[in-house]
Formats: sequence, structure tokens, C-alpha cells
Amino acid sequence: MLLAHRIRIDATAAQRDYFARAAGTARRVWNWALAEWNRQAASGQRPNAMALKKAFNRIKYSDPDWLDSDGNPWLRAIHRDAHAQPFANLAKAWSRYFELRRAGQPAHAPRFKKKGRAPDGFYLANDRFRLEGRSAVLPKVGRVALREALRWHGKIMGASVSREAAHWYLAIQVDVPDYLARRRRTGDAVSGVDLGVTNAATLSSGEKIAGPRPLKAALRRLRIRSRRLSRKLEAARAAAGIIGRIVKGTCLPASKNRTKGALALARLQARIARVRRDFTHKLTTRLCRENQAVAVEDLNVRGMLANARLSRAIIDVGFYELRRQLRYKAARYGTHIVLADRWYPSSKLCSGCGARNGVLALGERAWTCAGCGAQHDRDVNAAINLQRLATGALAARTALPEASQAVTRGAAAGPGPAGGGEVTPVRHEHGQQDGSGQEENAVHICTRNR
Ligand SMILES: [Zn+2]
Repeated sequence: MLLAHRIRIDATAAQRDYFARAAGTARRVWNWALAEWNRQAASGQRPNAMALKKAFNRIKYSDPDWLDSDGNPWLRAIHRDAHAQPFANLAKAWSRYFELRRAGQPAHAPRFKKKGRAPDGFYLANDRFRLEGRSAVLPKVGRVALREALRWHGKIMGASVSREAAHWYLAIQVDVPDYLARRRRTGDAVSGVDLGVTNAATLSSGEKIAGPRPLKAALRRLRIRSRRLSRKLEAARAAAGIIGRIVKGTCLPASKNRTKGALALARLQARIARVRRDFTHKLTTRLCRENQAVAVEDLNVRGMLANARLSRAIIDVGFYELRRQLRYKAARYGTHIVLADRWYPSSKLCSGCGARNGVLALGERAWTCAGCGAQHDRDVNAAINLQRLATGALAARTALPEASQAVTRGAAAGPGPAGGGEVTPVRHEHGQQDGSGQEENAVHICTRNR
């Protein structure tokens, strides 16, 4: 089972400088490769990432674009993994694009990476670094201090160094043997989870889980800091005499205050991302730990993001991330995940009699069924409908410990057992979960290992 551990690096100034240069190199090589790809494709050739890499290797120490002001090839100062990997990434990006296109899904071709816009990072092959407890020895920079030791035991597959605001992180991918990666579930419940706007998650037991509270304050601060930064940008534009759109390649006059403002904003955005990630981790761990089957809606996030009123709240909950976490944790806990087709009308069906309320508006929090007269809380009703999908899927598959494919309405809704009264209610949080929501720590794995 492939698992990753992302560890913060306590980097020295010199190491940070190297990381930034290596990330810049990776970005620049990507842009070079993409430009070449586009040029070849436009002239009717069939571009190939490996051939591009060979072509790049021929010019990288001689082409004037890749020489510094003294005429020396500056790429020699950067480890080759940083400038070899972008070719593999580009090949992957193109094949994903063509795959999506073939499947008739929305896709965009690989884009150029802009400094300050694209995330900073670069790759390290598994034979190029080694870990020694709370430090790692990386090519070119030597020993770096890590905030914690690697959590997983297994074969190290590779790593990447990336930046979030002012900090650098080492993400290590490990192939963990299944017997070490597996976790014991504490319950065998079957749950439906309605992901929403008013509450981050509503469980079919009726429990409502609110989104993380620090987020609200942080979002207010985010508005303030973005406003401050945009004022500084305005001032810089005024100083440079620019009216309207900034022409590509223009450099605004540098200002320490603007840099500081940008950094303050980036720090806050990183904090917001951490708060969200932490919340999502705790929720998904709990769902996988306490249930043998969990059904969630495979929401059409793209479509919903187009709705400006809803978008803020949806991004807060981070549906993509939530689904990603559910998938890999399901494998670890042997939990069955059912993704309801996004057309499944979970909110509109009466969980009592199955009648469909075709006129339910988005803002209606509660409704009464015209068929049986039952009073429904919108979200709880939807969660119960989803729970029924999970029960149906579980019965059909006799609880194989793998994440299921998306279940379409026809396949799983079926007649289904009515009521769902046999389901154990999902319990409230006990002391069993540690503060980080990251399950057991490495020490625990070691003791199980021996
Ligand atoms: Zn009804």
C-alpha cells in the first residue's frame, strides 16, 4: 500500500536558497519541455517526452539560455532529478489529458508554470537521499533537520521537496506492507454522510458535524490581508504609471512592504489549508474507523463552484480532499466506500416511503413528505438515503475490504431494506483519537512489527 508522509524541514538559509533554485529549475525545465512539445505538435510531429529529455540533455550545458552571465552552465549546481522529473510529469499530464478527452470529460492541456503562481517543488529519486531519524541527507545540500521521523516502515519509493508559504516540506512516498498499513476498525456501523454547506457533514445517525471554527476567523483575516496586498499592488502600479491590464513580462517596482504583505497572505493561506486538512483528516479517519460501509455523494464540484453563493462554503469543506482521504483510508481500515452517482437525488427522496419531492428548493432546510407526512430535516434525510445505498452495496458485495466503484442509482438504490433501524448509530468522539487525527504513530507500528 502506497502511503506518503509529509514532514516539515527546518532548513538553513543556504538550504532554502538551494530549494528555491531547484524548484525554479524544475519549473523552467517544465516550461521548456512544454514549449517544445507544443512547437512539435503544431508542426505536425508526434512529440515524445523521453525524446525531449534527450534533446534537452544535449543542450543543457551549452545553450546560451542555460548559461549564467559568466558563461557557465548553472544547471550543474542543481541535482539532476530536479530537471529530469519534469519530463516524466509532462508525459503523465498529457496522457491524463488525452484520457479525459477520450472519456468525454472536461480537461485542459498542460499549462506553463508561472513563478509565484505554480506550487514550488522538485523531485528526488529514492536512491538519491537517505533518512537518519530526524534528519535526511539530500543531494547538494547535505543534512537537513526534519521535524519528525518517517512514520511508515517499508520500501521508500521516492520523495519530493515542496514549499508552503515560508516553509519547506519533504514528502516521502513509502510502499508499506499491507500487514503494517492495515488498521483495526472500532465499529461495524453503516453510515450515510451528507456533505453540505450549513454543516460540513451530517451523518445518517442525525449527528451534525460543523466545520472547523478557526476557519471563520481566518477567512475574515484573509479578506483583510488580501485587501492590504492589493492596495500595495495598486500603489506599485500607480508608481510605475500602469493603467489597466499589466502587460506580460512587466516588472513592478520592488518594495519590501509588498513582499511582506504577500508573505503574510501566503502564511495565512497555508494556515487555512492546514486547518481544513486537519478537520478532513479527523472526519475521514473517524468515518473509516467506525463503519464497515460509508456512502457519500460524489458531488459535481465543478458545477457547484459555478454557483458563487455556494462556492465559498464548498471550498471550505474541501470535497476533493475528503474523497481522496476516504479512498486511501478505506483501504487501511477495510471500509467499504460507496460513492453515490451525482444524479442520485439524496435530498429529494423521502427516507420513509421513497416518495420524491420534486419541488425541494436549495434553501429549504426542512420539509414534509406529501406521501407519508413524515417531517424531514433536509440533511439528515439525505444522509439516511445515502446510508441505504451503503447497506445495499454491502449486501451485494459481502463486505470486501476495498473501496468500491461509483455506484449508480439503478445498481444500488434498488428496493433496499426499509427504515435502516438495524444500523448501529455512529458514536461520538472518545479519547481514542489523538489530537492530530493521523492515526497511530510510528512507535505503535514498531511494536506491532515485532
Ligand atoms: Zn414519505
